[in-house]
Amino acid sequence: MLTSQSVLSAEPTLRLAAFLGVLMVMILWEVAAPRRRREIPRVIRWTNNIALVMLDTAILRLTFPILAVGLAVMAEERGWGLFNNVDAPVWLAIVASMLLLDLAIYLQHVMFHAVPGLWRLHRMHHADLDFDATTGLRFHPVEILISMGIKLAVVAALGPPAIAVLLFEVVLNATALFNHANIDLPRPTDRVLRLIVVTPDMHRVHHSVDPRETNSNYGFNLPWWDWLLGTYVAQPAKGHDDMEIGIEQFRTRRDLWIDRMLIQPLRGPASGHALDPHNKTKEPDA
Ligand SMILES: [Zn+2]
Ligand SMILES: [Zn+2]
Repeated sequence: MLTSQSVLSAEPTLRLAAFLGVLMVMILWEVAAPRRRREIPRVIRWTNNIALVMLDTAILRLTFPILAVGLAVMAEERGWGLFNNVDAPVWLAIVASMLLLDLAIYLQHVMFHAVPGLWRLHRMHHADLDFDATTGLRFHPVEILISMGIKLAVVAALGPPAIAVLLFEVVLNATALFNHANIDLPRPTDRVLRLIVVTPDMHRVHHSVDPRETNSNYGFNLPWWDWLLGTYVAQPAKGHDDMEIGIEQFRTRRDLWIDRMLIQPLRGPASGHALDPHNKTKEPDA
């Protein structure tokens, strides 16, 4: 029987193995079947994006005494949260917890686009000038800390089985690498896959420089929230080959260095967020 404690002790190895395994597969796939031509030499983006994810991980570990799986174990021991107080079958608690965690991440992503101060943090993810698996690792450390705070609050309220939280985190990590990958999926495969998971073509729309496209397709795992809640855009207006990746600000190669990424929230106006009235007046150039 899989105990919560054994889930907790397996977490670091399982997560690291899944992360490195999926990253390697995506990198090989990008070499074998790239979707778009690269604009920026890989060495600049990869060294800085990978340095950033290492910094994020260190800051996260040093800031929080307990992370999401640990809190789920603690909640179970102390009877906190919904699923530790109702008599639901384990499979139902696992499925419902994973769905609700995914909805919470979707809503959090919408919030990071809508609130100007939070957009300053999150736009750093969008300021990458190419779109590949390492883009999926590129988040400001303060965004990572706020996300973990929200996730811990959701875990405390839900009281999900620890295995559900671990599975959710491993799957989210894998899908984030997959749906940022610069890979050329056959269109029919994309259409079918898109019914159950966010594909690279679906998430690439979210990295378009056009604010109407930036502010769409917020899902990372499941595409369903975007369909149900009206934020789904099927394809970029200019097509995948001609669309421009990034945001209006921060378009130099120097902006891709880690020191510039870290101070980006303090630079320039917060324009382009989802509630910015100027977004509507922008017309696509002919
Ligand atoms: Zn975003
Ligand atoms: Zn993204």
